Amino acid sequence: MRPPRLLAAVLLVLASSAPGPSGAPQEIDFTKAGAEGLEHLKALVRLDTSNPPGNESRAAAYLAETLRAAGLEPRILESEPGRGSLLVRYRGAGTKRPLLIMSHIDVVPVEREGWSVPPFDAIVKDGFLWGRGTLDDKGMAAAELETMLLLARNRVRLSRDVVFLAEADEEAGGAKGMDWLLEHHADLFDAELALNEGGRVIRSDGKPRYVAVQTTEKIYQDFTVVARGTAGHSSIPVGDNPIDRLVRALDRIGTLAFPPRLNPVTRAFFTGLVSALPPELSGCVGRLEDPQAGPRCFETLSAAPNFNAMLRTTCTPTILKAGYKENVIPSEARANLNCRILPGTDLDTFLAGLREGAADPKVEVIFARDPRPSPGPSSTDSPLYRAIETVARRVAPGIAVVPYMSPGGTDSQVLRQRGIAAYGLLPFPIEEEDLRTMHANDEKIAVDAFTWGTRMLYQVVLETAR
Ligand SMILES: [Zn+2]
Repeated sequence: MRPPRLLAAVLLVLASSAPGPSGAPQEIDFTKAGAEGLEHLKALVRLDTSNPPGNESRAAAYLAETLRAAGLEPRILESEPGRGSLLVRYRGAGTKRPLLIMSHIDVVPVEREGWSVPPFDAIVKDGFLWGRGTLDDKGMAAAELETMLLLARNRVRLSRDVVFLAEADEEAGGAKGMDWLLEHHADLFDAELALNEGGRVIRSDGKPRYVAVQTTEKIYQDFTVVARGTAGHSSIPVGDNPIDRLVRALDRIGTLAFPPRLNPVTRAFFTGLVSALPPELSGCVGRLEDPQAGPRCFETLSAAPNFNAMLRTTCTPTILKAGYKENVIPSEARANLNCRILPGTDLDTFLAGLREGAADPKVEVIFARDPRPSPGPSSTDSPLYRAIETVARRVAPGIAVVPYMSPGGTDSQVLRQRGIAAYGLLPFPIEEEDLRTMHANDEKIAVDAFTWGTRMLYQVVLETAR
């Protein structure tokens, strides 16, 4: 509805060139590459890989066939039948360590009744391609596929290998995807740098405003809240109903005030956005630590849910389980409390705080899963981060490029733990409001944004692996 004008201009500005087999630059027709990538994206959306159950091997087989036709030698690695991840390597000279470009090919399930188009038909309407996975994360998979095809067809000479990984099971924690791959094929992860989902290119009024490169993420931690009471006939309640207890405890936890706090990544993020945000916010982003304006500015920025999630820890209940019959009071009620915690927080102390917040000896709060170690952020002083800056400024002069702590979790965290500098970038310019279709109904990607992002991704890869 809004797209085309932004990017047409940019497509003209940039005649991209790559050193070909002879070393001479080769022109790449990105309009054509974008259109081809979009067809691959449609095909990937139509292969339903809702997780559970996953069935990612369908998408992996499609990618493998396409890559093979370009002369590459992809491998499909299955953690169990149907749960395939794809890996393919484009060889560079080997003078620098490899660059890994990755995306996940499973998607979250849909609530079909909530969609205004069928979620797996990949329909183009109003300038958008609609469908589950278009943003998260098959758009990235299609752009990465296109990058590999362009490298292979043009026999581009690179200093380092570029490895494309399309992994299974990201949306369900990675046991059948990343965790399994790292356990059974650790040798494949010989990369120095990785480019994954998790960042953003935000546009408003048709213009890209800033590139947020994810260099770290909040700690993902689920807690189980269990209330116990006295089971019995619901015709004679005795005042010890665990459902009542659970609801009251969740309500008290919901009122806990998690204080706002900046860390080096969010500090650089907000400071870097001074020129990129509308006036009502830009006056505040650089003054969060000003003793006078700070408290008011935290409040102003916290009104935007995405900024609020970057400024403080959040917790919200996501699952309730209680009761089995209309006229029976159960003996137990439980909830899953999903928390996204600021890095650097001590989780045992945090758990103690939740218990205190629940304030009921008959309500237990426990870790739903053992906490995982949280690695530090990837450095902004690296060839890949610099390549993103260089390319972004070339394609959108004046654009702000800032490091970003994503509220959501990605597979980059396990790579950072292994010493790989991982960065998140969703290179398709998007309006804030359309970002919210991720994991929701009517997920869609603007067609012009897909082409723009495919070009950006290719150029970032080239710049990093020159
Ligand atoms: Zn994702």
